[in-house]
Formats: sequence, C-alpha cells, structure tokens
Amino acid sequence: MHPDHPHKLPTGSHIDGQTVYKPGEESADFIIIGSGAAGGTAAQFLTEQGFSVIILEEGPYVPTHKFGVDVYPGMKSLFRDIGSQAAQGKAIFPILQGRCVGGSTTINSAIAWRAPESVYETWQQDFGIDFSHADLEPHFDYLDKALTVKPVEDCTLGQHNNLFGLAANRMGMQSQRTRRYDSGCEASASCLTGCRSGKKMAMNIAFIPQALHKGARLYSNTKALKISKGPKVHTEHTVFYAKRGIILAASAIQTPGILKRSGLRNKALGRYFQIHPASSLVGYFDRDISMQTGATQGYNSIHFLDSHRFKLEVLSLPPELITTRLPLLGPQLSQKMLEYKQLLNWAVILKAGAHGTVKQRFGKDWISYTLTPADMNSLRQAYKTLSEMMFAVGAKEVLPCVYGMPILRSADDLKLWDNASIDPKAYSLVSSHLFGTTRMGPHKKSSVVVLNFQVHGMDKVYVLDSSIFPTNIGVNPQHTIMAVARLGTSRLV
Ligand SMILES: Cc1cc2nc3c(=O)[nH]c(=O)nc-3n(C[C@H](O)[C@H](O)[C@H](O)COP(=O)(O)OP(=O)(O)OC[C@H]3O[C@@H](n4cnc5c(N)ncnc54)[C@H](O)[C@@H]3O)c2cc1C
Ligand code: SF4
Repeated sequence: MHPDHPHKLPTGSHIDGQTVYKPGEESADFIIIGSGAAGGTAAQFLTEQGFSVIILEEGPYVPTHKFGVDVYPGMKSLFRDIGSQAAQGKAIFPILQGRCVGGSTTINSAIAWRAPESVYETWQQDFGIDFSHADLEPHFDYLDKALTVKPVEDCTLGQHNNLFGLAANRMGMQSQRTRRYDSGCEASASCLTGCRSGKKMAMNIAFIPQALHKGARLYSNTKALKISKGPKVHTEHTVFYAKRGIILAASAIQTPGILKRSGLRNKALGRYFQIHPASSLVGYFDRDISMQTGATQGYNSIHFLDSHRFKLEVLSLPPELITTRLPLLGPQLSQKMLEYKQLLNWAVILKAGAHGTVKQRFGKDWISYTLTPADMNSLRQAYKTLSEMMFAVGAKEVLPCVYGMPILRSADDLKLWDNASIDPKAYSLVSSHLFGTTRMGPHKKSSVVVLNFQVHGMDKVYVLDSSIFPTNIGVNPQHTIMAVARLGTSRLV
C-alpha cells in the first residue's frame, strides 16, 4: 500500500470539497493554496515546525492505485483542462499543468536540476533579490536526501536514454544521466500519467502525506476564489482564516489570477511572464529502440545552454502522443505507428528571452506569449543538433514536425535546417516550465512580491511559487522552486 492510499492517511486528514455543501469556517496557522512543488514543500516544512496547516487544492485527489496507463483518462483526471490550456500569440500552443493533489509534480518526469549559479547572480544584480545560491544550498541538500535524488541507474537507463549519451559522446558534447526523484524507478517510461508503482517521489506521495501525518488537513476539489483581509481565503462554501499567513503556491499561471480576484492593484501583476518553450524531434531506426522501457527522461545535455540558450533531453512519449510529433497522415502515419518500437523522441527546452502576460478574461486565465526571432533561431539550431545526434547513432530518418521541412534521410540533409522557417506557427511547441507574473523585487512599480516573500500591500499574504522568479532559469525548474519555497517558508516563520 502506497503512502497516499486512503487507508494509510490519518482519519479526517483529507476532505473532498465535492462533499462539502454547507457554508462553514475553518482556521489554521497557515492556509496554503496549491499542493504542488511549492505548496507541498511549504506544508511539509511548516508541519515539521509544529504549525497547523490547511492545504487547498483545486484538483482531485487521485491516489497512486488509481493511476492508469492510458493517456486520455490520465489527462482528464490529472491535467488542467485535459491538457488544452494554451498560450495565445503569433502561434497557439499548449501550456501543460497538473491540476490534482501533488500539482504538476504528480505528472512530471521527476527531473531534479539545481539552477545554475549565474541565474542567482543575475537575480541579485539586476533585480535586487537578496538570496544567493549559497543560501539555497542547504535546502537543495535537504531535498536531495528527502526525495532520494540520484542519477538514472543502469537498470533503468534503457536504450532510448543510452543512445542519447552515445550520440552526445560521438559529437563531443557534454552530457549526463539525469538526476531524478527516484525511490526505485521501474523503468515504465510513463511518468506523465502518474507513477503507478509509487516510485517517483512527487508531492502526492512524499511531502503531502508527510504533512498530513503531522496534522495538516487537505481539502481537494476546493478552489481558492479570492483572499480578503484577515487574512482569509474564500472558497465556494467555506471561508478559511489564517492566523499567521496565507501562502500562495498555485503556480505562475493561477497565482496572479487569485491576487487579481482579491482586488490587488499592481501594474506588475501578470506581467514579465517567462517560459521554457519545448519541442521534440522523432528519429526512425531500422532496429528496436523501445522508448517505453527506461526512465521517461533519463539523459540530457546542457552543452549549448550558455552559448545558444537550449538544453537537450530524452523524452519518451506513449503511442497516443508520439502521433502528435509525426509529420504524417493517413496510411503513412499508420505504417509509422506500427513501427513505434523503432522510433525515438528527443526534446529541447529553450531559455527563451520573450516575455508574455497572464491576465483574467471572461473569468479565465488568459496567456499571451510570442517567441522572438532570436528565440526561434536558437530553437532551429537545437533541432539541427538533435538531428545530427540521431544520425550519429544510426537513424535512418529524422521526422521534423516543422512546416515546410521534409523528412531527413541522411546527414547530408542537415543543411536544410539552415533555411527552415523561424515563424513560431511553423513549429509544434508546448511548455510546462512557467515563471514570473508576480515577480519579486524591492520596488512596487516593477514587482508584486517584497523581498520577504509577502505581497506588496497585502498583510500576511505570501507567494512561494515560481511566479516570483524574475527570469526563467534554463533548466527543469521543480528542484529550484522547492528550494526557494523552503527558503521562503523558513524566513517566514
Ligand atoms: C508534464 C510535465 C512534466 C514536467 N517535468 C518536469 C521535470 O521532470 N522536472 C522539473 O523540474 N519540472 C518539470 N515540470 C515542471 C514542474 O512540474 C513545475 O515547474 C512545478 O511543479 C511547478 O510548481 P508549482 O508549485 O508552482 O505548481 P504546480 O506544481 O503546478 O502546483 C500548483 C497547484 O495549485 C493548484 N491550484 C491552482 N489554482 C488553485 C486555486 N485557485 N485553488 C486551489 N488550488 C489551486 C493546481 O491545481 C496545482 O495542483 C513538468 C511539468 C509538467 C506539466
Ligand atoms: S519511469 Fe519510473 S518514475 Fe516514471 S512512472 Fe515509470 S516507474 Fe515511475
């Protein structure tokens, strides 16, 4: 039985909001909005310190034994808007987020990266942030231990990941096995629909159950509508009073919306939104690669992060989703899918320079974002590098999902990338790494959150998620979000 099994949780610690019909009032030292990377970390820290905590989570509580294999039901129960939330701009593309207990950590690939030191230097020098890499080190160390962070082991590597390392080696690129929250990964390459074996140390299985055992109460299916003086959080039926503080950990998309609905007037609210746009490329081989065996994302390279602002990584996708990466239709698509085992999928995440906004329109979060030409140039370069890596380990075809680009059949075709379009509409993008929108800083004119993590002008209301980050960070963000949330919580108490 996994730690999140209902029989394992303390009686009365989980309340399903769908069973609450009458108006009521509750109180605790801290009310935390969101149960993902930031919220889970704050809940665990505060309960360890002996504070009473209530966690509000908009999404459902789906325990590990209910996770399935199929993508559609998984996305329906665990993803926000079944994965259809989108950024609007020159191109429209999905912004993926978890909406369930554990937030996006429940559906992510368990990659644990510490942001490079240069990121904090920029934050300190350009944005007046008063914490450094050294301040976060002890929190990273704690998280590494508590969530069993380790590089992918031989037994979970699989050919898909292994080939990436080989390709990078052959091209003289730096690369490494991915460090992951792994307590005995069974190499099913299906983190996206929740870890069925309970081996991914995400918040749903790690910090949230731990906090509940220390006295926290979790309200699932309970959306925080707004905050008012007190401070208190209003939900459909219940009002939650915070004796010491309200912690917003609802993510860079939803946190600004809650503050807006709460009447906050601040010009920086919803602005300076940054992401890591991501995309991937499929290679076809004349032998089995079996991308469904191995850690979902088990190898990566930051070789081009400083020079070209991109990180490359393996990304195993199930058959239902690999179809969205193939530039084929009808019988050709069917034929390629019959050869699914011979396909591999390697991805790029881009430290994009573009800024967007998150606003409230018609009661929904409205995301505006357009990549700059410089961003698109980097993306195109990343595709060329990935194609070269695939041919370096024997790919027979590279199948770009980019309008106007043909299927590449040998390394001679790599030059075609040099004339490929840099129109964002020509590319098939997605993002799940989200930053900014309530950024931290010393001045109210350009920031929403004060250096002590409190919202400018809102007493005892704090933000701990990545909406306070002044910039994106270039690497997978969960670990940094958790370390910053832990630092923030420790300063707050
Ligand atoms: C498919 C996918 C794969 C990813 N892979 C990785 C990876 O391997 N490594 C990595 O570092 N990062 C990864 N990420 C990104 C990482 O998971 C997120 O950056 C991180 O979880 C964000 O933390 P957060 O606490 O800000 O938000 P989340 O973890 O998304 O949690 C926010 C929670 O708040 C809830 N919420 C929102 N609004 C309200 C409201 N009004 N009331 C109550 N609750 C509310 C949401 O439902 C959600 O559960 C991935 C993300 C996705 C979607
Ligand atoms: S790859 Fe590992 S961590 Fe991911 S779902 Fe499978 S067993 Fe769990």
